[in-house]
Amino acid sequence: MSEPVAALLGPVEIRALASELDVTPTKKLGQNFLHDPNTIRRIVAAAELSADDKVVEVGPGLGSLTLGLLEVVSDLTVVEIDPRLAQRLPQTVTQRAPGVAGNMRIIEKDALKTTAADVEAPTALVANLPYNVSVPVLLHFLATFPSIKRVLVMVQLEVADRLAASPGSKVYGVPSVKASYYGNVYKAGNIGKNVFWPAPNIDSGLVRIDCFEANPWPVTKEEVFPLIDAAFAQRRKTLRAALAGFYGSAPAAEEALLAANIDPKQRGEKIAVEDFVRLAGVQ
Ligand code: SAM
Repeated sequence: MSEPVAALLGPVEIRALASELDVTPTKKLGQNFLHDPNTIRRIVAAAELSADDKVVEVGPGLGSLTLGLLEVVSDLTVVEIDPRLAQRLPQTVTQRAPGVAGNMRIIEKDALKTTAADVEAPTALVANLPYNVSVPVLLHFLATFPSIKRVLVMVQLEVADRLAASPGSKVYGVPSVKASYYGNVYKAGNIGKNVFWPAPNIDSGLVRIDCFEANPWPVTKEEVFPLIDAAFAQRRKTLRAALAGFYGSAPAAEEALLAANIDPKQRGEKIAVEDFVRLAGVQ
């Protein structure tokens, strides 16, 4: 059997790196580091990457998932906001995956401020996302990089359930509809607390998005996303009432809904992305 290209980080290595850097993980930056090689390999496997994928990872932290990704892809860009972590990462990768260290590029930046100029046409986003900004980061990357065809992210379990929810489900909401604008969204498993240091208070979940090869919709996200926001701003209301402000009046909202073949008495939580797209297309 051939030698693995990277020596993944376990609990001992994570503690040693954190104490060397004098890092006290902060809640504000969602710093819960993976210290379980089995979980790391499980995440990488769930992403089903090919050797020619150009992967972007948000929040590499101490390098746990980064090393796992470098085992299977040869083009990896990581975006890390914390300068202490970003600056230590090259050394970690050189020590633990010397043969492939040149395959990683680091961008020290807030992921929410990443632009198309920072990463050239990535094909996949794989990340253990910082929990407090997980949905905004995910939607920002999907909007900024239409070249992304596969997403595999770890988020809080309840966010994973919400992202993957279908119309009619109790947890279906704005993130569910917006994520499904970009592709087919699936739950790809649950992850317990003990694979992290420090252990978070809540379980996590994996979400996979298989993005559409080409944008199938006749309207842009700028046309459809404001409608989604308006429909869910008042969850309990019928679409006729919830969209009255958007269309100028309740009768105008009713007219648009009927033209899109949507029952005005329906609530937003029952409406799929294709319905919102149809409504946005009504002149
Ligand atoms: N990938 C590592 C792992 O699995 O062990 C760390 C994951 S940890 C949940 C989240 C990481 O995202 C931290 O390294 C944190 O510093 C970083 N982070 C937090 N907010 C960020 C932001 N806005 N942009 C980029 N990185 C961010």
